Amino acid sequence: MTNYKKLSGQCLCENVSWSMTGPFDFFGLCQCSLCRKLTGSGFASNLFVKFDQFQWISGKENIFNFDMPKPSNFISASCKTCGSRVPRIFGRSKKKVLIPYGSTVDVPEIQPTLVCYEDHTKWFTDLKKAIGN
Ligand SMILES: [Zn+2]
Ligand SMILES: [Zn+2]
Repeated sequence: MTNYKKLSGQCLCENVSWSMTGPFDFFGLCQCSLCRKLTGSGFASNLFVKFDQFQWISGKENIFNFDMPKPSNFISASCKTCGSRVPRIFGRSKKKVLIPYGSTVDVPEIQPTLVCYEDHTKWFTDLKKAIGN
């Protein structure tokens, strides 16, 4: 059995922090217009983790959850103090967690996959080349 290291992340003001241990479900880099707006960047980096592999360390009560009006299932969460994106527990049974991976320094034991490759900005077009696949 592989021994997965414990990875941790925190928001900009350090109020909200968390940790997680692999194996991870999915690591997606998405360039779609919704992800670009949400992150203010060329793409979002989202790691999907099972809830029992995830732990809040601090600041759980300092989070603002955003749910886009239906029929969209677009969700996000951010720190109420600094506005950084933070993990969001989701799913009908609340058993999955979406981690905005930019706040984690360590490399996960999973390769990123491109999502919505065709939908991108004009100023950053080749994420595929950037991650080397
Ligand atoms: Zn913060
Ligand atoms: Zn997207």
